[in-house]
Amino acid sequence: MGGALLPPTFGAGFAAAFAADEPSCYYPPTLTGMRGSHDGAYEVAHALRDGAVFRSPQDRDGEYDLVVVGGGISGLSSAYFFRKRFGRDARILILDNHDDFGGHAKRNEFWHGGRMHLRNGGTLNVEAPSQYSAVALELLREIGIDRTRYYESIAAVKDRYKDLGMGYGVFFDRRLYGGDKVVAGFGQRSFEEFFAEAPMSAKARADAIRLHTAEHDYLPGLSPTEKRERLVRMSYYDYVVNLVGCEPEVAALYDPETHSLFAVGVDAIPAMYGCEMGFPGFGGMALPETPPDLLVNEPGGQHGRENAGRAGSGDPDMYFPDGNATITRLLVSALVPGSIAASTMEDVVMARADYGRLDDEANGVRIRLNSTAIRVEEKGSDRISVTYVKDGRPARVRGRAAVLACWHPVIPWICPDLPDEQKQALNDGEKSPVVYTSVLLSKWRPLVDARVSYVGAPGGYHTSVSLSTPLALGEYATADNPDQPIVLGMGRYPCKPGLSRREQHRAGRAELLTTTFETFENEIRAQLDAMFGPHGLDAESDILAITVNRWPHGYTYSYNPLFDPVEWAYTTTDERPNVIARQRHGRITIANADAAASPHTDAAISEAWRAVSELATVI
Ligand SMILES: Cc1cc2nc3c(=O)[nH]c(=O)nc-3n(C[C@H](O)[C@H](O)[C@H](O)COP(=O)(O)OP(=O)(O)OC[C@H]3O[C@@H](n4cnc5c(N)ncnc54)[C@H](O)[C@@H]3O)c2cc1C
Repeated sequence: MGGALLPPTFGAGFAAAFAADEPSCYYPPTLTGMRGSHDGAYEVAHALRDGAVFRSPQDRDGEYDLVVVGGGISGLSSAYFFRKRFGRDARILILDNHDDFGGHAKRNEFWHGGRMHLRNGGTLNVEAPSQYSAVALELLREIGIDRTRYYESIAAVKDRYKDLGMGYGVFFDRRLYGGDKVVAGFGQRSFEEFFAEAPMSAKARADAIRLHTAEHDYLPGLSPTEKRERLVRMSYYDYVVNLVGCEPEVAALYDPETHSLFAVGVDAIPAMYGCEMGFPGFGGMALPETPPDLLVNEPGGQHGRENAGRAGSGDPDMYFPDGNATITRLLVSALVPGSIAASTMEDVVMARADYGRLDDEANGVRIRLNSTAIRVEEKGSDRISVTYVKDGRPARVRGRAAVLACWHPVIPWICPDLPDEQKQALNDGEKSPVVYTSVLLSKWRPLVDARVSYVGAPGGYHTSVSLSTPLALGEYATADNPDQPIVLGMGRYPCKPGLSRREQHRAGRAELLTTTFETFENEIRAQLDAMFGPHGLDAESDILAITVNRWPHGYTYSYNPLFDPVEWAYTTTDERPNVIARQRHGRITIANADAAASPHTDAAISEAWRAVSELATVI
């Protein structure tokens, strides 16, 4: 195949542009335009799926102790754990198809007026750190993340928006409601007062107030346990519209919330999940508490499936200026000498990565970017080989073992020798399409005027809009002056309500892969003008840069009793496909957050630890 497949060499043919004020050397974090799954990252894998035959590979390098496929949190953690377990002089190669390391956990780095402005390009936060596994917590500590110091650092700034009178708002969009209007103070003032300002029909307004305030039993005659069983199998949309009797646009008020957690709307999320997450309508239902130990063997947040007491307990979520890219950058710094001069969460924020050092033969650990693995196989009883394509040319490396820390649906294509049952299980979870867009604004005064720092936009092209979290870490600080630039985050979750969750993800992915940057740009300008134009924003002059982080294969699929057996969603049964999928195959083990069926950073780390531990039995 060869030539027909050539992905563009780095820098040639990119829709993206380097942000102003930066030298045009290899430094992907400053690229703007269409990022995430960028052009050049996915073509080889798609060609493999479509039956392409590749040229014979050229052998490269000496032999490695470990070859890791996937340079996200899980792949980098695998390298970290392997070195810890098998010795610091282990030779490790990490392959990733993107032009930057980190997988979903990448940073968007804007420069304006000589100042750096950061935002996460994907993985946002360390959610519920107190629930992280011991293994994940220890790794974070070892690479330089200190929770006590973190909370001390941000203490003085964390309430900045609240102190300015800003809070949660809803953007009522003319596509879904009666007009374009941001209404501030959702959940912070009485619902009567809030909905009085909403451009809704009189019936929808009354329904919304009733949903939020009435204490009514909508399933009379059923025992608490029977009610719970019904609500586990009924969508929140059905509950609100068909049982409570509200207009559909009332149920849609909660779409932004389920979009950001599950990448689908309330039609594809069980009513019981809504109840656990504090959605309205359950005040008079007298439901039993979710047993706190249902998912006790699975650390980390379990959206919608843990009781509210557990979800709200422990330390608050941790946000770094570039999201969990802080974790991947600290991991790279620890693994690859000379790559990033930083060893703490404070100094890594401003540190510049030297991409020229990532694949240096002088180092024990090498990271090879723009490299898509197309074949991973055992060679005899004590070796593996990995074939990958870089710059259109197939190459092969050999090693003693491999960890596949890439997305599970990719594995059957690159590892066709796996048993059929395992390949089927690897294909079971449909990864969700998500878009995190970063918009550098010249000022945030219009949001102060609108009294919002976060807005849910049920009918919007992007369904959530949020200011960067106020942070002060090391030498970095989020703008404290509303007339200075800041990065706004916008979330879009392409889906098709009415279909099953897996079908919605497939349809959304197809849409995402054919949506141009120009479409995004036009929609962003129109939406921000509609939302904040009345408050003094002019998208034409106030938008300084846009980075669309497109993730067609985003969040890991988490089980959902509307479409999966209840036991898969609520227990740790070994019958779950993710358990069957992650079984060791000789000297090849399987990591990634997908192995836990959990879209979380701690899962990515814990699965890396398991995958490396499994190798101890064979090498
Ligand atoms: C937009 C977004 C926001 C998120 N926000 C949060 C959050 O706030 N908190 C949280 O805990 N989790 C969040 N997550 C979940 C996130 O997926 C995990 O936290 C974690 O980053 C996953 O790491 P990973 O290494 O398992 O997978 P990934 O980060 O997906 O890394 C796998 C890597 O393998 C690469 N790969 C795939 N196939 C091949 C191949 N054949 N050859 C070479 N490389 C290959 C992929 O391209 C990718 O770079 C978010 C996810 C997304 C998409």
